[in-house]
Amino acid sequence: MQTQTALLDLSLDELTQLMRDLGQPAYRARQVWEWIYRRYAGDFEQMTDLPQALRRTLAEKTTLRLLTPVAEMVSAGRDTLKVLFRLRDGQTIEAVLMLYDRRRTLCISSQAGCAMGCTFCATAQGGLARNLSAGEIVAQVLYFARYLADPASLPQTGVERPSTVTNIVLMGMGEPMHNYQNVWTALRRLTAAEGFGLGARAITLSTVGLAPMIDRMADEGLQIGLAVSLHAPNDDLRARLVPVNKAYPVDEVLAAVARYTAKTHRRVTFEYALMRGINDSAELAEELAQKIQHLLCHVNLIPLNPIPNSPYQPSSEADTERFVEILRSHGISATVRLRRGIEINAGCGQLRRALAA
Ligand code: SF4
Repeated sequence: MQTQTALLDLSLDELTQLMRDLGQPAYRARQVWEWIYRRYAGDFEQMTDLPQALRRTLAEKTTLRLLTPVAEMVSAGRDTLKVLFRLRDGQTIEAVLMLYDRRRTLCISSQAGCAMGCTFCATAQGGLARNLSAGEIVAQVLYFARYLADPASLPQTGVERPSTVTNIVLMGMGEPMHNYQNVWTALRRLTAAEGFGLGARAITLSTVGLAPMIDRMADEGLQIGLAVSLHAPNDDLRARLVPVNKAYPVDEVLAAVARYTAKTHRRVTFEYALMRGINDSAELAEELAQKIQHLLCHVNLIPLNPIPNSPYQPSSEADTERFVEILRSHGISATVRLRRGIEINAGCGQLRRALAA
């Protein structure tokens, strides 16, 4: 019910006020906070040190449930789990959990849909429905934290692996910088020692290149990693792939990145989705190298996740290899990202779209 207060949208101060309004002492807020962010409680019945009557009142007037899983897909290798969630107003979003030997990386959404219109992206095709609240962003992490904390849900690989979320990337649906306020409220909650408590360095925010927001992020004082989706080294090509390039051309984005690295001394990752015959030629690799070789950066080449009826296809292995080698020959650190979960529509927005079809 939308009339119930969403507890995940409240700060600790706001939760304390809510407890006061319910005639409760302030320390009850701390208890509830602990249950939510440290013990990942998914309902009030688990909060056994709260009086029964308070648990009942909380269940009546408030809610912890901002997301309902409506579809779940596990990759054949059992190392990628994708979940489609329905929000309280019926909108849907996706999040993906990727299991590596020593990491459990969660890719989360920041908006329902996206306004950026990238021409190769499944999410772009439906446009933006709305921003997620900070609570809805945090709720995705808590859902998987709960999942990982349950030993019965672990894939039976026989390998000892961490049972907590170790890394988060904001690379799911939406442009995080376009929902700046809520995203940063969520990031502070996720990194706060009295909140979820994940190290800021374990989190990466990926943007399509909203230059003024990159400057704003440089002033946040949190060591969150920055990834910039470049996909092309010049304005003609990039504007075809990433329409927001018309507002923030390549040189403007790169200048913002230079200011960011000068201020934070942190290396920036450039994401580059390689598309066959579109942006994967040797000439474009040379042009990219010239543009970025003075920057403190790493290039992450991503084999494109093809979407149905799209003219864009992934580059061949040979072209991918050539592209990486050219960048490396200029002294640029570059890697090809493992393609995970293709068969479960793990690319941004693909499961949601497939189920809507
Ligand atoms: S690639 Fe990212 S920024 Fe571009 S439309 Fe898709 S979700 Fe939005």
